[in-house]
Amino acid sequence: MERNHMGALQLDREELTRLQELLSKEPLRIVLLAHTNPDGDAVGSALAWAHQLERLGHTVHLIAPNKYPYFLDWMPRIGEVIIHRQEPERAERLAEEADVIFCMDFNGIARLEALGEAIERNTSAVRVLIDHHLQPSEPYHIRFSHPESSSTAFLVYTLILELFGREYLTREIAECLYVGMMTDTGNFSFSFLTPALYRAVADLAETGIDIPTLHNSVYNAYSPQRARLFGYVIHRKMKFLKHNTVAYMSLTEEEMRRYYFQQGDSEGFVNYPLTVGKMKMSAMFLQHHTFIRISLRSRGDVDVNLFARRYFEGGGHKNAAGGKSYLSMEETIEKFKAAVEEFAAEGGLKGGSNNG
Ligand code: 5GP
Ligand code: MN
Repeated sequence: MERNHMGALQLDREELTRLQELLSKEPLRIVLLAHTNPDGDAVGSALAWAHQLERLGHTVHLIAPNKYPYFLDWMPRIGEVIIHRQEPERAERLAEEADVIFCMDFNGIARLEALGEAIERNTSAVRVLIDHHLQPSEPYHIRFSHPESSSTAFLVYTLILELFGREYLTREIAECLYVGMMTDTGNFSFSFLTPALYRAVADLAETGIDIPTLHNSVYNAYSPQRARLFGYVIHRKMKFLKHNTVAYMSLTEEEMRRYYFQQGDSEGFVNYPLTVGKMKMSAMFLQHHTFIRISLRSRGDVDVNLFARRYFEGGGHKNAAGGKSYLSMEETIEKFKAAVEEFAAEGGLKGGSNNG
């Protein structure tokens, strides 16, 4: 029977040739960048790509603006990730001296915060984008921008197959790619779940990765305080609007301290309101020192990328996006409520729920 290639990523031939030529040069100093608050896909896709580039003989450093969540601590060679906030001089020197800079899993230098300035200072590096977010904001010398991909990890998988071949998928690379695919698809439950993605997973499984262990390492490794915080947020802080079709939650710094909050503890909270039937959009407001970080999720045609761009200086994907607010928590929530009204009045909440 013919293989069903539905959902296979169609990579641009010219861009592939350019990347191949670039990587076949003498050993290069390569920096891979991940976005602020790096998640499973940012870290997984970058680690996998780093392993591959090192095998080609290049010197590779992976830099993230701040630390990855603790439930990724076990990932192969994650200890080598350089955290800009912890080692600013080293991170900036490497960024400034790099011959090639890969931007992995983000669509704009603005998502790098202070690290972005060091990147801007390096005007000679070849810049390559490997990403699946909508509307990249800067030009790149070589660009793989695939919003139709469920994760950047699936894009890296496709790149490895196209440029090198399936035999280059080592178990270590497969573990990293699996984590990216799993986390960005909500454990294979969101959109873009194509036959090609499951074929990719089959290829990863063939390397001998232990899928239940990978799953438990990411999703079942939280602290007891995080479990209590989750209960508190759902019980006390989840609010509904628009006849239970929009939900929002918030956490102040005082509340986070009360539950010994660690970076990553609120991961996934924003998805929970979507377990309510007919829910269309969910928002989470998380206080930081100087601003409030906003996470947005939606169903179907409700476009939170648009919502985040329009009201909260952010972006992302249609059903998962984020942004920022520099107002107080109360003012941010008031702004959100007004934005929801405006968005709904314009038809933005039409056609997006599980069950009618
Ligand atoms: P999360 O809510 O998991 O932090 O982010 C959801 C999605 O939106 C991710 O794909 C993330 O990269 C994107 N995102 C989060 N915050 C921002 C932001 O401030 N700007 C943009 N452009 N994208 C964001
Ligand atoms: Mn991603």
